[in-house]
Amino acid sequence: MNNLAPKLTPDQYEKNFSEIHLAFTRNQAVAEANRCLYCYDSPCMKACPTHIDISTFIKKIATENLKGSAKTILESNWIALTCAKACPVEVLCEGACVYNERGEKPIEIGRLQRYAIDWYFKHGMPQLFTPAPKNGKSVGIIGAGPSGLACAAELALMGYDVTIYEGKKLAGGLDTWGIAPYKMSYEDSLKEVKLVENFGVKIKTGVWIGEDLSIQDLERRHDAIFIGVGLDTSPDLKIPGEDLKGMHDALEFIEKVTTRKWSSVDVGKRVAVIGAGNTAIDAATEAKRLGAEQVMIIYRRSESEMPAYHYEYELAKQDGIVFYFLTAPKKIIGSNGVVERMECIKMKLGTPDVKGRRVPEPIPSSEFHIPVDMIIKSIGQKPAEQFLSQISNLKTQNGKVVVDFETMQTSNPKYFAGGDCINGGKEVVNAAADGKRAAHGIDKFIFGK
Ligand code: SF4
Repeated sequence: MNNLAPKLTPDQYEKNFSEIHLAFTRNQAVAEANRCLYCYDSPCMKACPTHIDISTFIKKIATENLKGSAKTILESNWIALTCAKACPVEVLCEGACVYNERGEKPIEIGRLQRYAIDWYFKHGMPQLFTPAPKNGKSVGIIGAGPSGLACAAELALMGYDVTIYEGKKLAGGLDTWGIAPYKMSYEDSLKEVKLVENFGVKIKTGVWIGEDLSIQDLERRHDAIFIGVGLDTSPDLKIPGEDLKGMHDALEFIEKVTTRKWSSVDVGKRVAVIGAGNTAIDAATEAKRLGAEQVMIIYRRSESEMPAYHYEYELAKQDGIVFYFLTAPKKIIGSNGVVERMECIKMKLGTPDVKGRRVPEPIPSSEFHIPVDMIIKSIGQKPAEQFLSQISNLKTQNGKVVVDFETMQTSNPKYFAGGDCINGGKEVVNAAADGKRAAHGIDKFIFGK
């Protein structure tokens, strides 16, 4: 990079990356819990993909039975701390809370869940569940992300011998490596990994299936296998200049920031993020918090089509991120092999595609240049097709593994799957729900129950 932003002081980094959602105090939690109406039809519970019994766990907080509250939460969701901190609650449980209809602030379900689960971890994870005696069957899990961990926990409690194979050096998947530190620290994700290990699950990190252990060996070792591999790297932009120094992938950038060694992460003075999803917003706000002077988001559609949640958009605006809507990168121009500026073109929305989204079309002769020192690409991730192709008879559609949604079984009966590799990239809570459902699908496959 030609123009690096100056490094900040340790105090400035700490301040910039401090948690934006503070934990409830005891009085605040009890007061908030007492606002809950304990609705008989719990719309909040229906809106949660893991269907946590929300009114019951909140009621237990109101009576200060935090152990019981944590148990109610964990019975439905093994990834409850990450979900409490990183779930888009405004479009899930809190978005469904009846208080919205009354024009009042919904119950802060996410913060209450965090209050109960924080208590559980702070108190050394008191025993709430007892694994069943070993049933002599073994399950292998590929990937220690939220779906793999949830599947492993559930199976271990049913008496299975469970081994998770994870290529990276730390387990947790995107919960460990891909969540902005001002939302959640990677240490929180590792607490959930520990919880799963406490049930007797073995986690082998640094093991890539297909490289360090063959698919055939994996199949020989286990009676069933769960695929929770998530997605692959970002696709190419397919424009000239993409190979210049100063080009970065959003998830790789976020991963460096997540490890909290902020001063070791170089950031340009002028940063452009291409894409406007939630990951793009994370990358943009992290670049700004690392000291970038100017951070821009370049998006080819308009504000109303941007995939990022409203809350994320507001956060980015508060951080001073500049949005270039209806703008597409056309060429990246460098000097001495390093990114220097980006040629963009203005777009207009044309006719709707098969999904009903209006297709952006370039406006002829509307090119303009933006000076940049660093470009972060955040245009989604490719399916892990190369890895998946190693598994025989595994049906995929548009790169996504096809499953029976009741059991999560794939077209190869020994394999089950969940999380981003089946849905193309949804929330942690969807992965947690998939993993749990798959565990019961595996139990049905093995024991016919
Ligand atoms: Fe409580 Fe709101 Fe859920 Fe009703 S919808 S049970 S008020 S959190």
